[in-house]
Amino acid sequence: MHARLAPLLTAVGVEVATSKNISRVTAHSAIFTDGTELESALTIVIPPYRGPQVIIDSELGDEVGFVPVNQEMQTFSHPNIFVAGDVSAFSMPKLGHIAVHQADIAVAGLEKVLGEKTEIPPYRPEVFCIMNRGGRDATLILSDTIYGGERDVAKSGPIALFMKWSFDSWGYHTHGHLPPDLFQEALEKFLA
Ligand SMILES: Cc1cc2nc3c(=O)[nH]c(=O)nc-3n(C[C@H](O)[C@H](O)[C@H](O)COP(=O)(O)OP(=O)(O)OC[C@H]3O[C@@H](n4cnc5c(N)ncnc54)[C@H](O)[C@@H]3O)c2cc1C
Repeated sequence: MHARLAPLLTAVGVEVATSKNISRVTAHSAIFTDGTELESALTIVIPPYRGPQVIIDSELGDEVGFVPVNQEMQTFSHPNIFVAGDVSAFSMPKLGHIAVHQADIAVAGLEKVLGEKTEIPPYRPEVFCIMNRGGRDATLILSDTIYGGERDVAKSGPIALFMKWSFDSWGYHTHGHLPPDLFQEALEKFLA
């Protein structure tokens, strides 16, 4: 994924530097733990993730507000409480695509607790994003390698742009609903 994206970014003047840890930020640069320094007019740093205070106060979560769960999205401390989305302790990176998958699992788990004969889907997280890149270009990435899988796809061009536009438009006009399963299946076939 990095190998496919880096040249696209370089072509529009964006230098990509991976595996860098910031040790210090000055008024005009960022200094890294490997001793290198990068000049910077504006340094944007994403702070470490935290969950909401309400979760910390409830003592359901850990010290930063994320709730530890098993692979069926069931909390360890309260087996009748299920969690999905960013607030779960083990989804990294935090993604809407993963939140939706976790929600399907959590609902199945809840049904089981309520006595239904429900099969709980296996937890198979993956990163899925489509990024607009200006003009007629977008890049789609689908990868599960950080979760031990072997899928690592990056596709750029008008098809990715059309998919992004379709997804956004559908969400806008349906007030946030996901596209129908048929679209998801077509997407799976396209990416396979
Ligand atoms: C700029 C940006 C781009 C992103 N791009 C992508 C992408 O391309 N693909 C992707 O998969 N993911 C993407 N994400 C991540 C995605 O948006 C999140 O992972 C997803 O929204 C998580 O859903 P969630 O329901 O767990 O949490 P949220 O969507 O954060 O929902 C939590 C809700 O709980 C509410 N809440 C909080 N505290 C309380 C309280 N005390 N009482 C009542 N309600 C409360 C909040 O107001 C919020 O509405 C992006 C995120 C950002 C910020």
